Amino acid sequence: MLSKNGKKICVYCSKPEIKERMIIKNNLAWAFPTNIPIVPGHILICPIRCAANFNDLTKKEITAIFDLQKILKKSLQKTFKARGFNYAWNEEEVGGQAVPHFHLHMLPRKKGDNGITKYDPRKFLYRPGSREPSKEKELISVVKMVKKNLK
Ligand SMILES: [Zn+2]
Repeated sequence: MLSKNGKKICVYCSKPEIKERMIIKNNLAWAFPTNIPIVPGHILICPIRCAANFNDLTKKEITAIFDLQKILKKSLQKTFKARGFNYAWNEEEVGGQAVPHFHLHMLPRKKGDNGITKYDPRKFLYRPGSREPSKEKELISVVKMVKKNLK
């Protein structure tokens, strides 16, 4: 969505129905259910400030987000009988980030649910059709490549 001056408008900051979906809030973060849940109880936790990526967040904002995660975890365990969780965030368009406002996905999981148990990026990104473990030699070459660029 674009504004009159061509700037991107963030739906989390501008859509009133998202504010109405608020479950919990603290001084720097808030949480609401996504409109496209992968499992029942799929929640997004955001900083109040409109910042796109995790590395744009302050330490206080990160703490505020995880303070809410801790409280929500207990509620989701009771509400949806969650016995496990998935946490994730996407960054940039190529990483699947649809809204340029950081949001931590929190997915309550339970035995037998059929949400994303078959989700496996390696299956379709790295070695299509294969779950073969990588050879030690290949892993070591990755270690070397990444270490070379550590600064
Ligand atoms: Zn925003």
